[in-house]
Amino acid sequence: MRLLIVEDEPEAARLLADGLREMAYAVDVAYDGVTAIEKAYCNSYDLIILDLMLPGKDGYAVCRELRATGNTLPVLMLTAQDQVDKKIRGLDSGADDYLTKPFDLGELGARVRALLRRGPALRDPILRVADLELDTRRRSARRAGRAIELTAKEYALLEFLVRQHGQVVGRAEISEHVWDERFDPFSKVIEVYIQRLRRKVDSGGTVPLIHTRRGEGYLLDDRGDADA
Ligand code: CA
Repeated sequence: MRLLIVEDEPEAARLLADGLREMAYAVDVAYDGVTAIEKAYCNSYDLIILDLMLPGKDGYAVCRELRATGNTLPVLMLTAQDQVDKKIRGLDSGADDYLTKPFDLGELGARVRALLRRGPALRDPILRVADLELDTRRRSARRAGRAIELTAKEYALLEFLVRQHGQVVGRAEISEHVWDERFDPFSKVIEVYIQRLRRKVDSGGTVPLIHTRRGEGYLLDDRGDADA
């Protein structure tokens, strides 16, 4: 899952980005509203964390502009003071939820997970495909009851494939949702991570779940035929 943080205070933005990256999200940062809107047009974010008080175009304006153009991605608004009228204005401008500063990173993580689960199929924190089980709260994976040790990035890629299971996902789609804007499209990093996941998820005589579709991308499926 790829998030955009919009926060004009560099230190606050850095702390937020570091905390969310530790939670296995790909994170981009914008320091003002105009850049935020540009980035939201150019990239497929899964959620925006939007500070209300920004220089120039503030959080309300950014949110209204996104909604006016039909952009429905979840917006979590950050307000500096615990003021009811600000929250109401934020929600009226199209934000899905708000959080008052200062907040605990754990609470932010819980709000982010709740917003990302909005789709009815994703409410259960446990995702399952065949005997593979992902706990999206703990960011852990098990196959046939056996724990799989994964790095944050390996987990993020596996969760993305599991959420799209049964569908072929291309490299561009993977890089847009699992890597941030520093991703080098000419690198082999996705292939390397797929190989690592295969070793960890599909080892030990189990039915392979991760399949390659040459020229198309990758597919996580328990009914996948031999790799084409
Ligand atoms: Ca601010």
